[in-house]
Amino acid sequence: MPAQIAVENIRNTRGEPVTLLIEDGQVAGLAPAGTLGIPEVAERIDGGGKMILPGLVDGHIHLDKTLIGLPFIPHIPGETVAKRIAAERELRRTVALPVTARGGALIEKVAALGTVAVRSHVDIDTEIGLKGLEQVLSLRQSHGHLIDIEIVAFPQSGIMRDPGTAALLHEAVAAGADLVGGLDPAGIDDDINGHLDAVFAVAEKHNVGVDLHLHDGGALGAFELRQIAERTIALSLQGRVAVSHAFCLGELDDADFGRTSELLACAEIAIMTNGPGPVPMPPVKRLQAAGVRVFCGSDNIRDAWSPFGNGDLIERAGIICDRQDFRADDDLERAFALVTEASGAVLGRAEPLSIGTPADFILVDCGSIAETLAARPVDRTVFKAGRKVAEAGRLV
Ligand SMILES: [Zn+2]
Repeated sequence: MPAQIAVENIRNTRGEPVTLLIEDGQVAGLAPAGTLGIPEVAERIDGGGKMILPGLVDGHIHLDKTLIGLPFIPHIPGETVAKRIAAERELRRTVALPVTARGGALIEKVAALGTVAVRSHVDIDTEIGLKGLEQVLSLRQSHGHLIDIEIVAFPQSGIMRDPGTAALLHEAVAAGADLVGGLDPAGIDDDINGHLDAVFAVAEKHNVGVDLHLHDGGALGAFELRQIAERTIALSLQGRVAVSHAFCLGELDDADFGRTSELLACAEIAIMTNGPGPVPMPPVKRLQAAGVRVFCGSDNIRDAWSPFGNGDLIERAGIICDRQDFRADDDLERAFALVTEASGAVLGRAEPLSIGTPADFILVDCGSIAETLAARPVDRTVFKAGRKVAEAGRLV
């Protein structure tokens, strides 16, 4: 393969004809058609008049949990987070395929849909130990040509209620996890300080970021968010801490929302939402107006938590629009940014399609970002590091 590739006959999101020049898998230029010097040795690819979009970035996925690759397993009901955790641990003991097979199948599915990078939480508890992590680390090697994987060591069964987990979180980060996670310090562990002490001790000792799941609602959840923000500032971890779900932000009175969002902005904490089902969700525009970073991910895809989900981030951005009543073009663009620039920034990726960044992009037959969210085209051509990995929604 030549080191230089010119992708011609493509349009930007404003419909203007552009050319993309790729060198050694990185963006070397993206400019109006006819204005870039194309080296004679460059391979030329005809983009068929399609629109170029940045590759999609999934800010929250669970590669180890998915049951994709297995015959459909009916959902086991569980009305509380604690009951679902117990049901999942029971199911996990009987699943026939290893994480490498199930997670690998999920990576192949989402890569074909245009996802080029994910942040995957991986369960760490005293029963499974680091086994799930080891397999996701193996997937990072075997599937690196399709996707970049960032890993969060996630104490799904709690920390204080599962003694030994705190030590495992340290081991997980030492073994290659990029961040440390957490889960409902009050709702699951019933010990806000104990839980957060354990999580932030891992972050401090290993100099890693944090991404906690927080389902605790209302004033309790808001109190926990402020505790997380205060600890973030105390350890100078601004910009490296995220909270996933944070449903509570969607059900606070103005005073509580004001003081909580102010502290989140000050601590540069990013809030991940997947546009959840019938529960309150963080108000995207209101948080952004308060200076809080918001990003998006799929969360559960065909696992013990949900029989649904397909990993399609264009569909996911549409779900965000439905939940937030976004209809105008600029709001649809705002939702698309949650699954591209915003999630990419949280994962430490540079501005997409800027010079010197990996040539990770998709081509779709739509005239604008808004039309893309509305049409949810299945025909996507996907490039990862300058190499075509999918065409018409299928891996090549
Ligand atoms: Zn999750």
